Amino acid sequence: METIGLGKTGEKVPTIGIGTWKMNRDESGIAAIRAGMDAGMWLVDTAEMYGTEETVGRAIKGYNAFVATKVSPHHFHYDDVIRACDASLKRLGVKHIDLYQLHWPNTGIPIRETMGAMEKLVDDGKVRYIGVSNFSIEEMTEAQESMKRYEIVSNQVEYSIITRDIEKGLLRFSNDVGATVIAYSPFGSGKLFDKRYAELLSLIDNIGLKYSRTATQVALNWVVSHKGVSAIPKAGSAEHMKQNAESANFAMSKDDHKRISDALSRFPENRPIAGSLGPIVKKTSSFWGRVVRYREAMRGTLPTAKSRK
Ligand code: NAP
Repeated sequence: METIGLGKTGEKVPTIGIGTWKMNRDESGIAAIRAGMDAGMWLVDTAEMYGTEETVGRAIKGYNAFVATKVSPHHFHYDDVIRACDASLKRLGVKHIDLYQLHWPNTGIPIRETMGAMEKLVDDGKVRYIGVSNFSIEEMTEAQESMKRYEIVSNQVEYSIITRDIEKGLLRFSNDVGATVIAYSPFGSGKLFDKRYAELLSLIDNIGLKYSRTATQVALNWVVSHKGVSAIPKAGSAEHMKQNAESANFAMSKDDHKRISDALSRFPENRPIAGSLGPIVKKTSSFWGRVVRYREAMRGTLPTAKSRK
């Protein structure tokens, strides 16, 4: 597997890793994650919010995996960050988290307080590197300026052939400050396979024939062909995992890149999650708490209004 530098740390991580949002939490999810790691994608991304940390923990047993997880915005007060990290370590069954990321900005809690806790986690050896997710240029700058001893090594943001919002400035900024972009939803959370993109899929499928690659491999290759960009597709089967793992190891010609770039302007851009929801959720510190409590209730770990009656 091709590797990419993680920020300015000197550490190399696979250019394509594994996303686990909505991953099955049973044996099939574990088998899929292991198939991905066997194929070379030894970076596994999860989040306390996904409910997949235990599944990831079980899957990585016996593997030398690079584990990335995220603290939820409703846990951004100092003590909550520490507690959330301890809980993630336990669910993952690891001694340290390789990359601990702030899942979304939360303007309701001073960033200095949150970043202070992140630094403490590194000092204590519970976390190796600090990352952020869904942060704008201004938010990354403020978060970095709030830290005394460590650098933000990455920003995990939505980027795909159909969602190219970060090209408006964030990608360039990340390159300039030396933070790796970890592209999430590199297939637009599956929207790339919608009817409205059929013509685009057919074009990249056609280009893929030249390189003996599928349309999805071309789509992933396009994402990681940008400087400083890695990707974390989610796949539920060994077959999809293997295909994804074989997506960074070929170089498309300049002509083919141009054919794709020229075509992209003809298709509606898929609105990024951070674009549509971002302005609301970043300002609503209680929003994520409600989301998480709702999810826990649905999983039966908290009483629902119905069951209390
Ligand atoms: P995605 O990776 O863009 O797309 C997943 C979809 O693509 C699934 O339906 C999957 O189907 C399909 N797929 C995967 N590989 C395929 C292949 N080779 N051929 C055909 N179809 C394929 O979606 P995502 O889950 O939104 O994003 C990936 C990861 O990014 C998440 O799991 C999560 O770790 C991260 N993420 C982070 C944030 C954040 O706020 N930081 C937000 C969203 C996502 P199957 O499942 O059937 O294989």
